[in-house]
Amino acid sequence: MTFSSIVEQQDIRDHLQTALRLGRLNHAYLITGEAGMGRKLVARTFAQAALCTDLQITETGAEPCGKCRSCIMMEAGTHSEYRELTHEKKAYGIDEIRTQLVEDIALRPMVGERRVYFIAEGDLLSTACQNAVLKTLEEPPEYVLILIACESPEALLETIRSRMVQLPLKPVSDAGVKQYLMRQERIPDYLAAECAAMAFGNIGKAVRYAADDSFRNMVDRTTALLLDLKRLDTHAAMERVYGIFFPPEPGEEGAKKKKKQKKLKDVGAAELMRFLDLLMLLNRDAMVCKALGSPEKLVFAGQEAYDREAAGQEWSVLQGNLNRIGRARQRLSASLSADLVLELLLLGMKHGEDL
Ligand SMILES: [Zn+2]
Repeated sequence: MTFSSIVEQQDIRDHLQTALRLGRLNHAYLITGEAGMGRKLVARTFAQAALCTDLQITETGAEPCGKCRSCIMMEAGTHSEYRELTHEKKAYGIDEIRTQLVEDIALRPMVGERRVYFIAEGDLLSTACQNAVLKTLEEPPEYVLILIACESPEALLETIRSRMVQLPLKPVSDAGVKQYLMRQERIPDYLAAECAAMAFGNIGKAVRYAADDSFRNMVDRTTALLLDLKRLDTHAAMERVYGIFFPPEPGEEGAKKKKKQKKLKDVGAAELMRFLDLLMLLNRDAMVCKALGSPEKLVFAGQEAYDREAAGQEWSVLQGNLNRIGRARQRLSASLSADLVLELLLLGMKHGEDL
């Protein structure tokens, strides 16, 4: 693991590499960002560098050597001075925090000069657990480095946050995500571009989409729905929506009865928002296509039939769709029935009306 293999996140890399180079590490760091943004990668790379016995110092920063005994143990996941806290149940238990951190921390390092502790799921620390962590943060032994990752800093008590250096991960550019998918995951460029657009800067999400047939399925079925929308009545349009969220198993295409039992309310909020993201991007493509008069520079470059059709639509309709999709997003956030919200949205998009 090296800092240079982390995509973008320049501020975090600069901060950590400078601290390493000057030998001025704080005792505790808080890495924040959505799951999939690289929290573990940053923590493990930092830990490896902090434990490395032959740190490679350059003018601009510092990298773990990758060759010393410490680096080899770290990359093999067997370093005795590096501990990722575990939990047996859904969240960390107070006993787990005590045995794995509070008591463990008294042991001086056997190899090298540091011990590193990493709590990868800071959102799963109860107040009691946080108070136990806090005790450690108040008077940490000088050899200890504590890393915590969580989605947002608000997950932790102010008293904990104020004792940690905060490292907020930022969304990676679409180009950065696309390049990562093509180089590291060997994803073809058109698919990499689509997945990058839908992942909004989260590389982990983009990798998941690229590996997941249901993503392609959602793109194809949604494009087909929009292409046919003018010709479909409400019932038929909603049938198509159900087909997007509950695609029939192979050979089950005609078996409608089975499908009926499934309800949109059982679809997770994240999945519904992903559908709205996709509608938004397809609508954006339609606008670009209309403006340029050609299907270049589109996110979903393989959907020409849809773009040709969409280019024939009024500007006001396409522009209005952005607001309609935004309104649907708000309504879903306000816990309105997903059936009702999507029905209103599709009707609005079909007739160019605000419902
Ligand atoms: Zn090393």
